[in-house]
Amino acid sequence: MTINQDCLDLSHHFSNPNIISIFSYKSFLANGIEGRKNLAHQTGFNPNSLLNPKQTHSTNVVLWEKPGSVMDTDGIFTSNPKLVCSIQVADCMPVYFAHKNKPFFGLVHAGWRGLVHGILLQSAKCIKENEKALSDFDVLIGPSIQNCCFEVSDDVIDQFDSRFVEKKEDGKYRIDLQKMALSQLVKSGFQSEKIIILNECTFCNEDKYHSYRRNGNKAGRMIGLLGMK
Ligand SMILES: [Zn+2]
Repeated sequence: MTINQDCLDLSHHFSNPNIISIFSYKSFLANGIEGRKNLAHQTGFNPNSLLNPKQTHSTNVVLWEKPGSVMDTDGIFTSNPKLVCSIQVADCMPVYFAHKNKPFFGLVHAGWRGLVHGILLQSAKCIKENEKALSDFDVLIGPSIQNCCFEVSDDVIDQFDSRFVEKKEDGKYRIDLQKMALSQLVKSGFQSEKIIILNECTFCNEDKYHSYRRNGNKAGRMIGLLGMK
């Protein structure tokens, strides 16, 4: 395994010593499937073992046991230790899930819409349906837009639980998406002490991360990978 300066190695956050968890920086050029394959190759994974969900801001979460593309999916889990989950994000939360000692792990793309509509609850459901206890999982929320920079207007504010909303003087609202995610995860049955949130804002840290809110349609993407040694 060679982790280079173009990505963050998050593996040490997981109690399962065989888990490898990666998040690319802006400096890593991530174009489509080729970008994911290059990152997989550079971080010691087999590029042909990738699970590539076609993300649509849905709440669809699936268990998938063979490599390749998966249509209309924003959360992908596997129990095949040879496979590598992948997602791409730019402000949305990359949420990594890994069982403490069994080969069962998943990677979820959670933007505010997915969060509001329950993608984390669907993730919990996917784990439970496969006879795994949520208390056996470590969960990590990677770099994403934080409440310093995530604002919404009147038109969508009703969709958020008021506990995570702060009204600003200019009439807009700040939302704490990570706190909202934490609340949903704990409510689902994950243990709060096994949930790690990285307080790295993708909007503020322009030198390190792409941000859709900052750069609009021209924004690049970061890639998340999750697999086993
Ligand atoms: Zn910020």
